[in-house]
Amino acid sequence: MSQREWVEKDFYKELGISSSASQDEVKKAYRKLARDLHPDANPGDTKAEERFKAVSEAHAVLSDTAKRKEYDETRKLFAGGGYGRGGFAPGAGGGFSQEFNVGDIFGGANAGDSGLGDLLGGLFNRGGTRTASRPRRGADVETETTLGFREAAQGVTVPLRMTSPSPCTTCHGSGAKPGTSPRVCPICNGTGVVSRNQGAFGFSEPCDECRGSGSIIDDPCADCRGSGIQNRTRTITVRIPPGVGDGQRIRLAGQGEAGLRGAPSGDLYVTVHVSQDKVFGRNGDDLTVVLPVSYSELVLGTTVSVPTLDGRVGVKVPPGTADGRILRVRGRGVPKRDGGAGDLLVTVKVAIPQKLDGDAVEALERYQQAERSSGFDPRAGWAGA
Ligand SMILES: [Zn+2]
Ligand SMILES: [Zn+2]
Repeated sequence: MSQREWVEKDFYKELGISSSASQDEVKKAYRKLARDLHPDANPGDTKAEERFKAVSEAHAVLSDTAKRKEYDETRKLFAGGGYGRGGFAPGAGGGFSQEFNVGDIFGGANAGDSGLGDLLGGLFNRGGTRTASRPRRGADVETETTLGFREAAQGVTVPLRMTSPSPCTTCHGSGAKPGTSPRVCPICNGTGVVSRNQGAFGFSEPCDECRGSGSIIDDPCADCRGSGIQNRTRTITVRIPPGVGDGQRIRLAGQGEAGLRGAPSGDLYVTVHVSQDKVFGRNGDDLTVVLPVSYSELVLGTTVSVPTLDGRVGVKVPPGTADGRILRVRGRGVPKRDGGAGDLLVTVKVAIPQKLDGDAVEALERYQQAERSSGFDPRAGWAGA
């Protein structure tokens, strides 16, 4: 069964129970109805047969806690929700997000705003549905963290401390005093909307009785005053994937603010700052490093041990290497998300000694003579300039 069908079917109503009914109540209601409506007990009664099928379908979803949760979330996003805010004003940066990712609901890619309109247009045949069915999903939360260069390159698990609304621990987000549960709004039957007829036209409006939430709390939880939400400081441990760059924003689905009365949570966006490293730089997935070398090492060639993110690697400098040349070591750069890694780019840079002792100076002077007599002219390209 598709989630679209879920939006249109009220399984709770089918079983005659409230949306907060326990698994036991689901089972009991189903057993009774199944007995009453069973085709064997109602031979030839097509209506009873239809009902029996519907009740069985409702039971199949509601008796499975995982399916039930998914069903609840799907329906809360589209139906019954979001007209009123139940008098609840979320904390700093508050306001419920009007935009949401359709992909989160239907499991596809982000269908974008127009896609959402199309979907809703197909689902509901009532005016103004798009704005009216604004979900009560929790707001997205933005936060920042600063990582060391190597942490960012290799991936790291960091604790993030945040204060944001979370499901109330006393009532577990239901908003009802412990031991009680919200009941289905009798005016709108839990849909959050009421229809009014004016002449030839039918209008749907948010239900006044429950302020569009579809349920009524007779005995509000004292700790959250019925909102189902408390401000809480929490520390969550976040796994930052390898290869994240300075200024990049990471989305952690479902780690944002809690939704109202059990609606889905928003997402957490972490903007990552990456501190500089003394040795390494980055160019996308490539790790860059400047390798200081002496003149003689460039001329004669050598092999130098160069640091990498996870150890060291021997880099061969061929004889006659020009100053500033970049030597590439494949696969020793920054790890990529899809496996593999970028390259290590080693730039050779001549270091000039500021002081030499007598022997070295003498040797160098002898070398200079020999260089000239061998015909080497560093400014040969300037001939005629
Ligand atoms: Zn509470
Ligand atoms: Zn209502």
